[in-house]
Amino acid sequence: MRNLVWHIFLCVALAASAWASNKVDAEQVAKEHKASFHWFPVQKTFLLAGETDTLKFAIGLPYVSSHGNSVELKRAPEITDGHILLDSADVVSLYKTDKTAAVSPTSSSSAAKVSSSSAKAAAVPAATPTAKPKNETAGTREVKTIVIDPGHGGKDTGAQGKNSNEKDIVLAVGKLLKKELEKEGFNVKMTRDKDVFIELGERANLANQWDGDLFISLHCNAIDATPERKKQIKGYHVYVLRAPESEEDKAIARRENKVATLYGEKNAKEELSPIEWFKLEARLEKYKQNSYMFTEEMLKAFDGGKIKRQGGGVGGAGFMVLVGALMPAVLFEIGFISNPEEEAYMTTTKAQEDIATRVAKAVSTYKAAVHNYRETLGR
Ligand SMILES: [Zn+2]
Repeated sequence: MRNLVWHIFLCVALAASAWASNKVDAEQVAKEHKASFHWFPVQKTFLLAGETDTLKFAIGLPYVSSHGNSVELKRAPEITDGHILLDSADVVSLYKTDKTAAVSPTSSSSAAKVSSSSAKAAAVPAATPTAKPKNETAGTREVKTIVIDPGHGGKDTGAQGKNSNEKDIVLAVGKLLKKELEKEGFNVKMTRDKDVFIELGERANLANQWDGDLFISLHCNAIDATPERKKQIKGYHVYVLRAPESEEDKAIARRENKVATLYGEKNAKEELSPIEWFKLEARLEKYKQNSYMFTEEMLKAFDGGKIKRQGGGVGGAGFMVLVGALMPAVLFEIGFISNPEEEAYMTTTKAQEDIATRVAKAVSTYKAAVHNYRETLGR
């Protein structure tokens, strides 16, 4: 069995190295084509801004926006060892098209060439305007159904502060958030709307049954430390499901996952193994871009709020509650319940309303961003 796993692993590794020869560094491409390179780390998008066109790419999405059209790529851009890589065949065809347009921009024959190569994707829906795009999944379709997941509940109190429990704060914020989002016209579902215990896996199952467009799991952070240290560590953090980059992020995921092992949930584990991450990666890729888009909106919405970012405000780890959700998903640590100041703040109705309003604002701007993105893709 072990041999078989290794065999599969080696095959995958070999296949990966075979592709590597066809990949080119996007920054190098920019230099060679006298374009300027712009990278947006939270959204994981980048631009190659040339004289005649600005090409817009997204990590993990096999499309590029060129001359206002969406063009399908042979392979989605990716990040490897800190380099952004494009398929060399894609670069050749993109810059061939661009050069043709640049040499004789008014020539009708070259214009026809440009549109025949790039308008394929756009032309199909244009020719059949009544046909609805098929196979649209969460993340690519318009944002309508929001699933709010107030963490913990019932016998699982979550982290405990001096005077409050995590489960109560996140439920209060969740209920207010539902109200706010319904005012904006969203269809809103809650994995729990009272003090009950629900397994982590069941939360994702519910979200999938409801066919949600966005999954927001609400939590309060905590550290186990000296009173002095508890006073120092504070702030909010937005987490997406991705391999953790720091021990701190790993520890937070372990704490949030603990409930599953504690209460004997099936398939429960506190950490994902490397092979599990590997298996999950392809499926996650589908929603990653949108999870980051929403994260970006969350950072903007919480700018100027009472609770500040903890560090960069964004992290990744293996949160079990996010693993099963087949949609863009984030886990939001509102603030530290172990910090006396933040605990006191988060337990007030005024604070809970402010937090709910800010999350709702992020959802609305995210919805608009998805809508705009769909337009650039000609959907
Ligand atoms: Zn929690």
